[in-house]
Parts: sequence; C-alpha cells; structure tokens
Amino acid sequence: MLENLKKEAFETNLAIVQHKLVVLTWGNASAIDRASGVMAIKPSGVAYDTLTWQDMVLVDLEGKVIDSKLKPSSDTLTHLEIYKGFVEVGGIVHTHSPWATSWAQAGKSIPVLGTTHADHFSGDVPCLPPLTLGQVEEGYEKLTGSTLVDHFLSNQINPLHIPACLLSGHASFVWGKSTAKALENAIALESCAQMAYHTLMLNPAANFPDYILNKHFTRKHGKDAYYGQKG
Ligand SMILES: [Zn+2]
Repeated sequence: MLENLKKEAFETNLAIVQHKLVVLTWGNASAIDRASGVMAIKPSGVAYDTLTWQDMVLVDLEGKVIDSKLKPSSDTLTHLEIYKGFVEVGGIVHTHSPWATSWAQAGKSIPVLGTTHADHFSGDVPCLPPLTLGQVEEGYEKLTGSTLVDHFLSNQINPLHIPACLLSGHASFVWGKSTAKALENAIALESCAQMAYHTLMLNPAANFPDYILNKHFTRKHGKDAYYGQKG
C-alpha cells in the first residue's frame, strides 16, 4: 500500500519535469493515503535524474519522517497544511513553472478570460500576499499552507473548483482529488497563465462573461456535468 503511495508520488514528480513545469529542483509533488494518514513526498534537493521511487519520503500528518534517511522536501509542512485543510485532496503539485510564476512574482491573480480557463478553474486563480516578517519567523512553510487554506475558507472558494493558488513572489501550489488530477491542473494552470498574459497584452480590456464561465465549468464538473463519455 505505502509502496504504491511512494510510486504514485514518484511518477508525479517525474511527470512535472516531463511536462516542463520544473527545471533543476524547482518543484515537488506529493500523494496522501488518507486511511493511514501518511504522505509521500520528494526528498529535499535530490536531482530528478537520480531520483528513484524508493527515495520518496513518507511522513505522518505532523511531518514526522516514518522510514527514510533522506530529509523530505522543505515544503513538506505546506503540503500537509493543504491536505489537512482540504480533506478531499489526494495529490499536490508545487512548481515554479515560468508562466504561473510570472503572475505570482507580479503579485497578480490569474483572471478568467476564456473557456480554456473556465473548463478547469471556476474563477480567477487567486494570488495571496506575501507572509509578514513575523509569520516567516514563526513558521514559514506551515503558515504558507495555513494562510492558503484560510484564504479559500474565508472567501468561500471551493478548493476543488479552483484547485490552485499563487503565492506572491513565489510560485503556485496546485492540487486535485488524485495525483493525476493535480498534475492535469498544474499543466492547465501553466497554459492558462501563458494565455492570460498574451490576451491582456493584445487587449488589456479583455473580458469574459460570467454566464459562459458558469456554463463551461458546470458542463465538466458537478452533478449536471455532461462533457466526455459516460462511465
Ligand atoms: Zn517553491
């Protein structure tokens, strides 16, 4: 079981490189087994080309390493806060993919400007302000995750409807019910970030009607979805 969890996290860590969301070691992916309360995540600072599935580090929900000599990713506590706050999430992808990261560095949410975005995200992908000096000193990684969760809860954003968030001056965290879904959402985010940039360059006043946004999101998601094949 946990061997499979490690393999799942490993495959996702390879996939984010294959999909050009990660260069060097600028990213990490994790998978959680809710039944045992265990997360598998990439080890800290290990080059992707030498990584094996056995290197994935298992930690409990408090971040305690279960069975590894390797240190888990330095973003481990952020991943755990997102899993604890969003109980339906099964996989998380964190990358410094260039287009999404450009928006994060500009401190700007990615606006929904067309149906491509609307098929994956039911509204703007928010960009959170940087943590304060006090928060960074108190617990940078943990508070990065908990402020992200708080933002979604306090603004009543369904994390499965907008499964991504930008952090000012940093990059994105993207999630999904499964690691496969988290990966798909990360690919979609990067592409939507690139298109939004070009759209606003061509027309700074570009606008997308809410009723088409709602139509596109609900035909792919939720109880009345009808996109794709049955079963
Ligand atoms: Zn990062």
